[in-house]
Amino acid sequence: MATKNKSTIKPLRLGAGWKYAPAPESSASAQIQHQYELFIDGKWQPPKKGAYLESINPATEKKLYRAAVATEQDVDKAVAAAQKGFDKYWKKMSGKDRGKYIFRIARLMQEQARELSVMETLDGGKPIRESRDIDIPLACNHFFYYAGWADKLEYALPNRTAKPLGVAAQITPWNFPLLMAAWKLAPALATGNTVVLKPAETTSLTTLKLASIIQEADLPPGVVNILTGAGETGSALVRHPNINKIAFTGSTAVGKWIQQETAASTKKLTLELGGKAANIVFSDAPIDQAVEGVVNGIFFNQGHVCCAGSRLYVQESIASVFIQKLKDRMATLLVGDPMDKNTDIGAINSAAQLDKINQYIRLGKKEGAHHYESDARLPQKGFFCRPTLFTKVAQSSRLAQEEIFGPVLAILTFRTEDEVIEKANNTPYGLSAGVWTDKGSRIFNMSRRLKAGVVWANAYNLFDPASPFGGYKESGYGREGGWHGLYPYLTF
Ligand code: NAD
Ligand code: MN
Repeated sequence: MATKNKSTIKPLRLGAGWKYAPAPESSASAQIQHQYELFIDGKWQPPKKGAYLESINPATEKKLYRAAVATEQDVDKAVAAAQKGFDKYWKKMSGKDRGKYIFRIARLMQEQARELSVMETLDGGKPIRESRDIDIPLACNHFFYYAGWADKLEYALPNRTAKPLGVAAQITPWNFPLLMAAWKLAPALATGNTVVLKPAETTSLTTLKLASIIQEADLPPGVVNILTGAGETGSALVRHPNINKIAFTGSTAVGKWIQQETAASTKKLTLELGGKAANIVFSDAPIDQAVEGVVNGIFFNQGHVCCAGSRLYVQESIASVFIQKLKDRMATLLVGDPMDKNTDIGAINSAAQLDKINQYIRLGKKEGAHHYESDARLPQKGFFCRPTLFTKVAQSSRLAQEEIFGPVLAILTFRTEDEVIEKANNTPYGLSAGVWTDKGSRIFNMSRRLKAGVVWANAYNLFDPASPFGGYKESGYGREGGWHGLYPYLTF
């Protein structure tokens, strides 16, 4: 097997010597205000207590804007506005008309896609290539897709009368800010619910821009309310008595707290939490494509991806060839200015997150795993991390069990299909997995037996609004996307 996959082509090394000429995207298209207020009842309103938080550009550590911190009183006001928006407008409106509004949001987002992409990259640190080609187009598609469901609920759910729940509280993380807002808002609006949404404190910009797009789309007041702030704002929202549904994406720790907090209530809950996905490569896989898939799986968006392929299981017979090819490919990855269109790996989202990643790298070395990182030059300022891998990782080690949320890959080997299924399933998580093989029957067997919400075959990190996404075990429950994504917002 291994001989079939021996490459005779010398790998291209860009990391050390070669350089591309800079190809920076202009930041001129982004109109960033110095300060943002809260978006409540269709209007921008200052917070009751007047506090603001600063958001920086993690690639330069420079301040980007200030956003209001919503306290309990503001949460109360926003929930009341959402309730009024529900009773007065949204629940009375026909699905067809709701759909028109959602289409309008999608089209306005598309028109302003460049500005949204630049904002996403400046605020969060992800490469402009990704915000431009992945985050923003997918977010638009999500609105287009759910706009189409708004007037078809009775066909989607025959012989049942689906009713909205009322006011939904939605909390999003910093890794895909606008995309996660779209995943949450679009199905809620299509099913006739109104919303109070809180983005993450380090990356609120595109969600605030979305609020102005919603204003431009002339949605009735109170249908969508956007509150900025950190964990305290989020917890005030979760605890509010007039919330009917909570949709949360973020850490497992906060997800567990929300479960406890809502256990004695009738609030419906969906949770999208962490992951520790296995990317599994069999000896008959198309090796060069698999190397590309593994690189995409863990280094895409600096590894700030809940479904990141952060564990690689490679079949023993091809392990040494595969790991060498992987290292050669890693050497060509460009780390640096996220606004440069050549950049593969942008900035880590915050100093705290970089700290956490570095702690895991130190831990991996201490646990005795073999460490390798590319020799990419890092910028002087900002939060950056080289693409890193560990070999000789034990199944029981923390590197193989815990979510790192950074560009750090743990590599393990296996011999048989049964063995790798057991190992891949042996974590507290179950969000996604990847299988690389030439054999169709093996793909079906693996996707059936892997306890993961999504299993990609000979591909990784592919998303489509029509395809449901969500986890098993500590990765959470409920599905977002597709026809399945309508259910969490409906009662019968
Ligand atoms: P987090 O769970 O603290 O934050 C996610 C969102 O929840 C943010 O909007 C935050 O303000 C809010 N929040 C925080 N505490 C809250 C509370 N008590 N009640 C309600 N809302 C609250 O996650 P984080 O600190 O941004 O990241 C920590 C870890 O979470 C990461 O290292 C990673 O492991 C994981 N994470 C997972 C995802 C994912 O997509 N599943 C995304 C981001 C982070
Ligand atoms: Mn920021």
